[in-house]
Amino acid sequence: MIQFKLVLLGDSSVGKSSIVTRFVKDQFDENKESTIGAAFLSQTIKLIDNQDNPDSPEEVSIKFEIWDTAGQERYKALAPMYYRNSNAAIIVYDITDDKSLSKAIKWVNELKERLPTDLDDPNRCIISLVGNKLDLVDDQESNRKISTQEARDFSIDNGLLFHEVSAKNNIGIKEIFQELGEALYNQH
Ligand code: GDP
Repeated sequence: MIQFKLVLLGDSSVGKSSIVTRFVKDQFDENKESTIGAAFLSQTIKLIDNQDNPDSPEEVSIKFEIWDTAGQERYKALAPMYYRNSNAAIIVYDITDDKSLSKAIKWVNELKERLPTDLDDPNRCIISLVGNKLDLVDDQESNRKISTQEARDFSIDNGLLFHEVSAKNNIGIKEIFQELGEALYNQH
């Protein structure tokens, strides 16, 4: 079992807790109260490692120790405590709220200043940028405030992984963690 510390960052109400709850408990709560300070959860996933010996692939367990932080400005000073020594960060924005992408970009810049993030650094923190609430644009494309292209371009320019997801409809959530697990395992 290999453990990795993972932190979620982003503006309040973008769906950080909903993403974690979907991943850890496979539930979605429409009326959930917002996180105060931070919440801790853990979840284990399995990966197949066939790099060393392609003929007999090996199953590997990856345990994520997840810190879900509160997005409110008044808790901002606490954030470094949660992202310190993180192996991975999921930075969430809401694709129906254009302010939330600017907030996410601020978090990306803060992490790049404070943590090792260079692609060739073996201890780097791997960052995944995640646009949530994809379900809200399914029926009504006019709800979309942030284009896939804009967020993807930013991710590519900054060496981030990128996903658009819906915690509510369970779209793309597993993939965020699976991809991070694989990237972390391959660099560890
Ligand atoms: P956090 O403050 O970033 O942790 O956000 P929450 O997880 O508390 O979610 C904020 C609000 O957005 C809640 O009312 C959720 O029900 C709602 N929400 C979260 N994820 C989604 C989603 O994928 N789709 C929709 N439509 N609403 C969502």
